[in-house]
Amino acid sequence: MAELVFFSGTMDCGKSTLALQMDYNHRAAGRHGLIYTQNDRAGEKQLSSRLGLQVGAEEVTAETNFWDDVAARRTHGERVDYLILDEAQFYSAAQVDQLVMLVDEMGIDVFAFGITTDFRTKLFEGSARLMEVADRIERLQVETLCWCGRRATHNARTVDGVMVTEGDQVVVGDTGGKGEVAYEVLCRKHHFQRMTAFSARAPELSPQTLIDSL
Ligand SMILES: [Zn+2]
Repeated sequence: MAELVFFSGTMDCGKSTLALQMDYNHRAAGRHGLIYTQNDRAGEKQLSSRLGLQVGAEEVTAETNFWDDVAARRTHGERVDYLILDEAQFYSAAQVDQLVMLVDEMGIDVFAFGITTDFRTKLFEGSARLMEVADRIERLQVETLCWCGRRATHNARTVDGVMVTEGDQVVVGDTGGKGEVAYEVLCRKHHFQRMTAFSARAPELSPQTLIDSL
């Protein structure tokens, strides 16, 4: 019985490493799969992990239609038993529904990896749809830690080290001269307090005075 599984976790929790491990396990069992990702740190058409592993992958864009892509491959005799999808939070709800059809109509296993909420603690579109329709949701248990030592559960976006709570949902890397954009995982308390490792090191400076001093 094919199934759609959503593996969710915070940033840096080892999702890509697990995605690569899962691909290896299925390949070793003689199965044939496809890997899809989007905005990978190693560049287009790559799936990489922080531990240094890297493989070629299909790049997902807003135009990607998973159903059409897999159907075309099967028509040309390519065997597709499973899909591994990284950065699935970026997919549209419609793309997730295409994955559901691949599971139910073609019997293909779909393993989607993604983070659930963005830097404003709001669900990403792809993650919300996956949570609505997945057969199973697995919360990844590799622990990431806030600077304070508590379990990190929330993703923060920082600009020059200062946490921000407004802006476009998806910003990868630089915003073009407006300061360096980065991401940091925090515990809920420090996410709500907007206290990053950087601002914790300068406790006498509130985020606002830091912004004013720029
Ligand atoms: Zn904390």
